[in-house]
Amino acid sequence: MTTFSDVGLSAELVRAVTDLGYESPTPIQEETLTFLDELPESLIALSQTGTGKTAAFALPLLHHLDVSENHVQALVLCPTRELCLQITDDFKNLAKYMDGTQVTAVYGGAPLHIQAKSLKRGSHIVVGTPGRVVDMIKRKALILDELQCFVLDEADEMLNMGFKDDLEFIFQATRKEKSTWLFSATMPSKVESIAKKYMKNAHRIATARRNEGASSVEHEYYLVKPNDRLEALKRVLDSIPDIYGVIFCRTRDETNVLASQLMGMGYPAEAINGSLTQQQRDRVMARFRKKQVTLLVATDVAARGIDVDDLTHVVNYAVPDDPEVYVHRSGRTGRAGKSGISIAIITRGELSRLKAIEKMTTKKFTYKKVPSIVDIGRLAVMSQVENFLGAELKGVSISGLLTDVHMALEDMTREELVEQLTKWLYQKAVRDRSDDRDLNLDPKSTRDKSKSGAKSERPGRRIDRERDEPGKFVRLDFNLGRKHHMNPARLMGIINEVMSNSSINFGRIDIMTHASSIDVEAKHAADVVGAMNGTQFGHQRIKVQKGSEALGTLSRPPKQGRKPKPGGRGKKGPGRQGRRR
Ligand code: AMP
Repeated sequence: MTTFSDVGLSAELVRAVTDLGYESPTPIQEETLTFLDELPESLIALSQTGTGKTAAFALPLLHHLDVSENHVQALVLCPTRELCLQITDDFKNLAKYMDGTQVTAVYGGAPLHIQAKSLKRGSHIVVGTPGRVVDMIKRKALILDELQCFVLDEADEMLNMGFKDDLEFIFQATRKEKSTWLFSATMPSKVESIAKKYMKNAHRIATARRNEGASSVEHEYYLVKPNDRLEALKRVLDSIPDIYGVIFCRTRDETNVLASQLMGMGYPAEAINGSLTQQQRDRVMARFRKKQVTLLVATDVAARGIDVDDLTHVVNYAVPDDPEVYVHRSGRTGRAGKSGISIAIITRGELSRLKAIEKMTTKKFTYKKVPSIVDIGRLAVMSQVENFLGAELKGVSISGLLTDVHMALEDMTREELVEQLTKWLYQKAVRDRSDDRDLNLDPKSTRDKSKSGAKSERPGRRIDRERDEPGKFVRLDFNLGRKHHMNPARLMGIINEVMSNSSINFGRIDIMTHASSIDVEAKHAADVVGAMNGTQFGHQRIKVQKGSEALGTLSRPPKQGRKPKPGGRGKKGPGRQGRRR
C-alpha cells in the first residue's frame, strides 16, 4: 500500500492527513500526487464527488505553496457556497501544520465588505464561487497577478448553473503563466469547449468512474404505480429505522410538497432547495448535521451543498432523465469508505431510464418489494420489544405501582400477557395505516393489473382530494359486482339513468366479484338509495344501502362480496361526473 510519505509529500502535510485519518491516497490522489515536483500546466480530471478530489488538488497546491510570499497563489472556483466553505475547511485542515497559511472563502449571500477586507489582509489561497470572485476582481480586492494555480472544481456544475461568462471573465483576469486544473464529474461539450479555449495540451486523468466509496453503493428499486409513490416511500422509510438520507425530487415545488407531506405524517424531513435564503439553508443543514432532521428532500442543485459524508441512503423519488444525474445522486452516499444504498421508487414508465443507468454504470439494480403494513408492524413491534427489554429506571421507586400492575394482570397467563402486549404494540405501530394494499408491480410483466391511479406523477396531487373534505361523499354499497358484468362506467351510468341527473359527482369506485361500492356526493346519497333500491339490472334486483363511512370497509351481506382491498381493483377519481348510458 502506497502511503502519503512514500509519494514525497511534505512532513507537515503527512502529519495533517494522518490527523484526518487518511491512511493512503485515493486513486485520484495517487494521480495528482505525482505532480509534487512540478505542477502540470493543464490538468483535466474526470472525477466525482466522494473520490477524495478536494485533497487531490489541495495537497499538491499546498506542497508547492510559499507561505513567505504574501499574495494569492491559488484560486479555487466551485459552484456553491456550501462547497466553497467545505473546500476552505479542507484546505485549513490540511494546512494546519503549515504556519501562517491564509485561506479565504469568498461566496455570495454574505457581506461583501467583510470578505473584501480579509482578502486585503492577505491570502495565499482563495476559494470562491464565480459571481463573488468576479465582484472581488472588479473591486480590486482580489489581485491575481501572481496566481500560480487556478482550479475549477465541479466545472460541469458551474456551467450548468450559468456561470460561463463569469468563468470567462476570471480566466481573462488571470495571468497566462499559471497552472490550470479542471475537475468535473462529467465532460459535456460545454466543459470541453472551455478546456479547449483555455487549456493547451492538457494532461488528462480519469479515475475509475466509481471510486472506493461509490463502489460500495448498492442500487435498489421499487416498482409501483404513479399514485402509490408516496405510500411506497413511507413504507420504505418505515422499514429503515436508522435512515439518514437525501430524497431527491426534480423541482423545488416537488421538494416543498413532499417535505410537508412527510412532516405532516411525522417524518423528520425538511426541504432544501434554491428558493431558501442562505440563512434558511444554513439552518436546515445545521439541523440535518445534528440529526434533528434525518431526511432532506432536495433538488439536484441544492444537494450539491450537502457536505455530509455519512448518509446511509439516497432516495430517488422518481428516476432522473439523465443517467449522469443519477450517478451524482447516488454518489452522495457510500462516501469515504462507508457503504450506502441508493433507492429508486419508480413507475413502469421509468424502467427504461433504469436500464440506461445500468448500462452506463455497469451496476445492477436489485428489485425490492415495498414492505406490507404487516412487515412494517412486525419491524416496529420488534424494535419496541428491544427497547422494552433495555428499559431502565433509575432513582424512582415503583414498588407500589408494581403491586397495582400485578393485581391488574394477575388473571393473565404468560401467553396471554405476551399476546396482549404484541397486539397493543402492533396496533400502536400501524394505527394510522389503513392502506394495506400490496403496492408492488411485477417488473417482468409489461402491464399493470389495474390502470387506477395512473394519472398523477406529482406528489401532492391527490386523486381523491375531493374525498378529503369530510362529509362531501357518502359510500353506497350495491349488490352487483363483476359477476353481474358491473364496471365503474356502468355503475355511474345506471345511477345517472335512474336519477335523471348526469351532474352527480362520484368519488372512489370499487368493483368486487359480487358487490360494488361507490362514493356519491352526500347531497344526492339518500335520493340514490331511494331511487335505486328494487330497480332491475339485467336479471338482478338492485339492492343498495349506505355503506360504512367513505373509504372505510364495506358493509355488505356476508356471502356476497370478498373483502375488498382498498383501491385494489376499483377505480378512483376525483369527483368524476357520471355519463348517461
Ligand atoms: P471529496 O471527494 O473531496 O468530497 O472527499 C470525500 C471524503 O473523503 C471527504 O470526507 C474526505 O475527508 C475523505 N477523504 C479524502 N481523501 C481521503 C483518503 N485518502 N482516505 C480517506 N478518506 C479520504
